[in-house]
Amino acid sequence: MKDLNIQIAIKIYDYEELSAADRELMDAARQATFRSYAPYSHFSVGAAARLANNTIVTGTNQENAAYPSGLCAERTTLFYANSQYPDQAVETLAIAARNERGEFLEEPIPPCGACRQVMLETEKRFKRPMRILLFGEKGIYELKNVSALLPLSFDASSML
Ligand SMILES: [Zn+2]
Repeated sequence: MKDLNIQIAIKIYDYEELSAADRELMDAARQATFRSYAPYSHFSVGAAARLANNTIVTGTNQENAAYPSGLCAERTTLFYANSQYPDQAVETLAIAARNERGEFLEEPIPPCGACRQVMLETEKRFKRPMRILLFGEKGIYELKNVSALLPLSFDASSML
């Protein structure tokens, strides 16, 4: 028997400690939450992706009366980015969320498992790390790549 310990590194920033570019991206994610369509959960999520060409693309969660037909903000953002700019890597993805009281979350917003999988595919597709910024009022988590968010992940290489 052996142990395998996988460690992930997270940097925690105050908003003021972020670079101007990261503040701009996080502001875009926070603003996007106000364009969320969340009549069922009242949980408003916004994401903003900075592409290699410096374009910022945003997205929000889009719910549906047939619940599984809706989609998370992270995936609406990445699918739109990859549809509009298929040759542009995503350098950084910032995510923010507000609760049913309309308040930004105290703790950093963790992406769901399905979004992590899509984020991983985006990172693998462009063969370069995609930084992740997760907004929380108490601190902003920075992960240097998606693998840190999804250790022991399944990707195309798993099928070889
Ligand atoms: Zn999700």
